[in-house]
Amino acid sequence: MARPLTLFEKIWVPHEVHRDEDGQSLLYVDRHFIHDGSRTAYKQLADRGLGVRRPDLTFASPDHYVPTTSRDFADVDGEDRKDMVSSLTRNTAASGVTEYGLTDDRHGIVHVMGPEQGLSLPGMLILCGDSHTSTHGAVGALAFGIGASEVAHVLATQALWQRKPKTMRVMIEGELAEGVSGKDVVLALVAQIGVNGATGHVIEYAGSTMEALSVEGRLTICNMSIEAGARAGMVAPDEATFAYLKDRPHAPKGEEWDAAVARWRGLATDPGAIFDREVFLDAAAIEPMVTWGNRPSEAVPVTAAVPDVASVEDPAQRRVLQAALDYMGLKAGMRLTDVPVDYVFIGSCTNGRIEDFRAAASVLLGRHVAPGVKAIAVPGSGLVRLQAEAEGLDRIFIEAGFEWRYSGCSMCLAVNGDTVPAGKRSASTSNRNFVGRQGPEARTHLVSPATAAATAIAGRFADHRTLGG
Ligand code: SF4
Repeated sequence: MARPLTLFEKIWVPHEVHRDEDGQSLLYVDRHFIHDGSRTAYKQLADRGLGVRRPDLTFASPDHYVPTTSRDFADVDGEDRKDMVSSLTRNTAASGVTEYGLTDDRHGIVHVMGPEQGLSLPGMLILCGDSHTSTHGAVGALAFGIGASEVAHVLATQALWQRKPKTMRVMIEGELAEGVSGKDVVLALVAQIGVNGATGHVIEYAGSTMEALSVEGRLTICNMSIEAGARAGMVAPDEATFAYLKDRPHAPKGEEWDAAVARWRGLATDPGAIFDREVFLDAAAIEPMVTWGNRPSEAVPVTAAVPDVASVEDPAQRRVLQAALDYMGLKAGMRLTDVPVDYVFIGSCTNGRIEDFRAAASVLLGRHVAPGVKAIAVPGSGLVRLQAEAEGLDRIFIEAGFEWRYSGCSMCLAVNGDTVPAGKRSASTSNRNFVGRQGPEARTHLVSPATAAATAIAGRFADHRTLGG
């Protein structure tokens, strides 16, 4: 009888073109996403006189450096960033790669655009020169980020050398409490296992909680797998996945769709398959989460207090945590609901999808952002923006006092001019709360869209489930 296989193995094995004596595998790549950080990779190709091997499998969108206040190229912040954005257009046009440019409605953060266009499909090996490529694993793909030289290699060969990672299953069982989202789940997971808890592993998320979660919620969870050190995150494709992908522009059509779904059904991990590691999470115990430090693992329920780091035994660890508290301007024992915020950012490849804006809008409806708080809503793609506008969500955001922006990475990484000033505190639906992530000396707290909305209204961190009128 054949050995039971995991979802990961069922994708890895057929993509392995060759295995070296030292154990490295050459993998065939089904889909390659590139963005406005690909200038170096194209230069490497040009220097070696190489072309793009499979432009038909490569898709581009400028996301990191583009303005979100307009769709005008003239508003790209600075000459070098202008060159990053325009070189993507030049290079893709010259190499026959499809680009969803700044003024195209299909424009977006590549990790939002890919699944949205049906370019990310079950069973695929998907790569992009960006660590949050793990996002695409939510549709049952193996997807991970690569470096600039690897981007050049994939452009030139449509293949990549990799060492086989280990596997880890995160079983999440039970019903999520009302108002607890995928973002809260993944923050709770990273808090439980730590920022190195999944290093060297590909995570498969499974269990009744994942089965009940929407595909967009799964995208959020897979997106932040990297924050626990994982190489990738993935979820077995199921009926929800097929319903999400059906009729997307690049999804198979007609008989090809039926054949594809039949194939995709076989990708689920076989009963009895062995993982190198297993972790369990009780969904019912998860509450809306907020980070307090400079690592995504430093997260607690929004109703909790800033932890007392003085009781941490390891002196080196204690110093790191105290430095995080100092940077964040927090003291042990402070209740997070007493901590005032200056900025609220709803967007990014973690939480820039339509369900995220619906969740935030349901909290904002009929309410107003607190005085002194600057709040911006940045859809993850042009189509998310259009969908939100068709549903009237933009009006809810604007009437609540939010700025309603165009698609892009924006304040997640703050390399497009959207920054949080030094010393200011931000509630952000993005994925990294590192020192300086949203601007030099900016203080970033990671939250869900609903928590971000409630926080904007209260002017301090707030539990959206108990927000007063
Ligand atoms: S939204 Fe943030 S994490 Fe996502 S691709 Fe852009 S910069 Fe990276």
